[in-house]
Amino acid sequence: MRPFRYHRPADVAEAVAVLAAEPEAAYLAGGTNLVDLMKLGVQRPDLLVDVTRLPLDAVEELPDGGLRIGATVRNSDLAAHPAVRRDYPVLARALLDAASGQLRNLATTGGNLLQRTRCVYFQDTGKACNKREPGTGCAARHGQNRDLAVLDWSDLCVATHPSDLAVALAALDAVVEVHEPDGPRDVPLAALHRSPGEHPERETTLERGTLITAVRLPALPAARHSTYRKVRDRASFAFAVGSVAAVLDLDGDVVRDVRLAYGAVAHRPWRAYRAEEELRGRPFSPELAARAADAELAEARPLRHNGFKLPLTRAITVRTLTELAEGARS
Ligand SMILES: Cc1cc2nc3c(=O)[nH]c(=O)nc-3n(C[C@H](O)[C@H](O)[C@H](O)COP(=O)(O)OP(=O)(O)OC[C@H]3O[C@@H](n4cnc5c(N)ncnc54)[C@H](O)[C@@H]3O)c2cc1C
Ligand code: SF4
Repeated sequence: MRPFRYHRPADVAEAVAVLAAEPEAAYLAGGTNLVDLMKLGVQRPDLLVDVTRLPLDAVEELPDGGLRIGATVRNSDLAAHPAVRRDYPVLARALLDAASGQLRNLATTGGNLLQRTRCVYFQDTGKACNKREPGTGCAARHGQNRDLAVLDWSDLCVATHPSDLAVALAALDAVVEVHEPDGPRDVPLAALHRSPGEHPERETTLERGTLITAVRLPALPAARHSTYRKVRDRASFAFAVGSVAAVLDLDGDVVRDVRLAYGAVAHRPWRAYRAEEELRGRPFSPELAARAADAELAEARPLRHNGFKLPLTRAITVRTLTELAEGARS
């Protein structure tokens, strides 16, 4: 491991100013992703700015019924919060389906959203990777790409975003509160992560040095009927091979409102707007859910080893929405 300096800022403004002044600095939260990547030589910051002592660790119920989640709230604390369990079960489920108990005790809200891809070639400094070193090529494009993208990839990168939390937040229309050198700003979760395009090394729309300070959830009564389904190779301690976050609100049999997002299919959490359009205003049935998933996946371009992700995503859409519909009817 290369030597690095460590700094604990007194407040948010100081943290952002230090990052602005130090081109090789990085924020350190739980360290569960960053420190691993430093050990592998994938990331080489020369200064770590520890944000975990900043006063960003509260979960606040807002007067309009929404929720503000501080950036350093640990994943385990967030999953256990009574307001999350009651009003946004999809969020609690996504958090509990991620990583392991020990990791969730350290991992933070902000760090989870900005964790890097699990593409194995990205993590191996001996392999070509445009994301790690722009212009070197993409070993995954014609290599082992079973776990990688089927939607919205580019010839330069076919990686997926690994966060389960981000998929749930995409379905909930979350807003990310950030602090840039110029001051605070709100970024819709749907606009936080980028498609790979010509610049896979740029994973978010944030300027370098931007600090995530909180995530805000709008009041969404329908989200009380929500859940997250994750398919993975092991029952715990494994990233998604496919996942769906779903909110379903029925008026009798008719879909009054629905929110759907997919994980493990693209470079960013994938909000399934087309599927939602197909479902909204129609009597719910498993057949309708299957048609909605097919509409969403119509432009998918599977790679050599991951064609199975299309039927898998379709199947988890049908099963998850059908269970939510049965729950709403009973
Ligand atoms: C074995 C293993 C299994 C895992 N399984 C899963 C899984 O199934 N699902 C899943 O979703 N995740 C999984 N994870 C990933 C884990 O959830 C992330 O590593 C964790 O959420 C990252 O949070 P952190 O606070 O530790 O971030 P760190 O590692 O500290 O930081 C991650 C990145 O975010 C930046 N950062 C951190 N906080 C901020 C902030 N407030 N503002 C701006 N930038 C910031 C850092 O500079 C760094 O680039 C797994 C990890 C491991 C090691
Ligand atoms: S898919 Fe992306 S992250 Fe993986 S090797 Fe290719 S460029 Fe790198």
